[in-house]
Amino acid sequence: MRLRNIPGAKDAIEESKYVIHNVQEKKGKWQEIFGNSHSISIEVGMGKGRFIMDMAEKNPDTNFIGIEMYDSVLLRALQKMEEREAQGTLPGNLFFIRMDARELPLIFEKGEVGKIYLNFSDPWPKERHAKRRLTSRQFLERYDQILAEDGVIEFKTDNRPLFEFSLEEIQETKWHLVAHTFDLHHDPLLNEGNVMTEYEEKFSSMGNPIHKLIAAR
Ligand code: SAM
Repeated sequence: MRLRNIPGAKDAIEESKYVIHNVQEKKGKWQEIFGNSHSISIEVGMGKGRFIMDMAEKNPDTNFIGIEMYDSVLLRALQKMEEREAQGTLPGNLFFIRMDARELPLIFEKGEVGKIYLNFSDPWPKERHAKRRLTSRQFLERYDQILAEDGVIEFKTDNRPLFEFSLEEIQETKWHLVAHTFDLHHDPLLNEGNVMTEYEEKFSSMGNPIHKLIAAR
């Protein structure tokens, strides 16, 4: 996923109708972008975006925003959107933002987001990088600033140390666990309606169990 320098990626993103720019100006006004009052779900670190595209297609009454920090990765998602448009399966309830998720509270108003998806987030295994993990207490604090009162975080990974770290961070903060499993694909309840991500397909096909947690305040 580290395809950082693809020539022309910046221009393609700048011109794409699927990408929202000047995002700080949209704070508190995201429903206007979608032209409806549906709840907004975001995926932080969406990669090539298959999960959020499939989610948007399956849930037309929810607005989706995919967030990715690398131009080169976002470009792959834009190419997929073009393919879907050509096939006539383009979801109209999905936009993308290129940004570092550390800035989430600058672009969403308190309570503006209904659900946050974190899928196969980078593990940052070194202890001194723990605050970069998307389930660290620092990120949980950022999510707290944008999520609706009844909002939830859904996190999936095959990385056991990262999952255990995430369970601990939830215990140490104002969040609580709504549900969790160490083997999602064999958990009939939590696996119902599961939409696979690119990484989930890759790692589960290698035999890795997928862990999932749902957290709320
Ligand atoms: N969610 C996808 C999946 O499950 O197939 C992609 C997983 S990939 C391992 C993690 C992605 O998160 C990468 O594309 C990375 O660039 C992005 N990412 C990591 N930290 C981020 C941050 N702070 N803000 C935005 N994106 C981030």
